Amino acid sequence: MNKKYIYLIFVTMFLSLIYLQKNYLHDKLTSYVSEKAQQRFGTKSIAKDQENKIKSIARAMNVSEPIVIRKMNHNALITFGYYNAFAHFPLLFDFIPVGSKPFLFVSEGFFEDLSPKEQLFLIGHEMVHIKEKHTIYLNLLLNLFFLGLFLFWLFFKKIINKNAFIKKHSSVFSVIYILLFFISLTVPNLVSLAYKRHIERVADYKSIEKLKSYDGGIKLLERWKKEFRLPDYNPHYDLFSDHPSNAERKQCFLKLKNRSKEIDEKYKTT
Ligand SMILES: [Zn+2]
Repeated sequence: MNKKYIYLIFVTMFLSLIYLQKNYLHDKLTSYVSEKAQQRFGTKSIAKDQENKIKSIARAMNVSEPIVIRKMNHNALITFGYYNAFAHFPLLFDFIPVGSKPFLFVSEGFFEDLSPKEQLFLIGHEMVHIKEKHTIYLNLLLNLFFLGLFLFWLFFKKIINKNAFIKKHSSVFSVIYILLFFISLTVPNLVSLAYKRHIERVADYKSIEKLKSYDGGIKLLERWKKEFRLPDYNPHYDLFSDHPSNAERKQCFLKLKNRSKEIDEKYKTT
């Protein structure tokens, strides 16, 4: 039999097997990535009344999907700070979504030290990330982009090497080629940072619109400013930052607060 047909039979059998076992594979993969996420950020669950508090904010934000809530471990606290919470989508090899439940990790001081207003702001903000599945495809897209870029440069090099002038000065062009390759690698990283700043603005805006949690947001910004010694403005016009600057966020919170007050006043007078 033709070799081609043998390969085709094997590939068909392999794909059929995957299809038949898809539920089993899905369960295995989701439990694997969930385990990994907990090993990385924390395995301990939180008290029932605290969990209910978070779930009631989730309901207020129209988030109905199940969320696994865990306490941050020591390493996560070092990265995210003592007064924080963050949403996380477990991914296979850190870039492939396999449909596992989203996580919410809360810090040591979240319930103990943050005021109810700060908790409302932060959980509302994280719920927008969960509801809109922010960053779930980011690493996958980044990896595909890098692969595409690599293939493009490989192809490009083959084409330019055919040119007689380039062939003659091949050493100079090799240096230019390598330099341009590394410069092009920074583009997806800058785009990814711009996207991260964008989703932070979206999460701030949508959660405050819904919950009127501006006061909690302003207070929490002050807390983070002290804890992380954050400057008011990000360096290099935000270009290398994954969050909008403190000053920008505060200004946005104050604007939303004033707008909400204006609307209340209008209703009072009519
Ligand atoms: Zn966020």
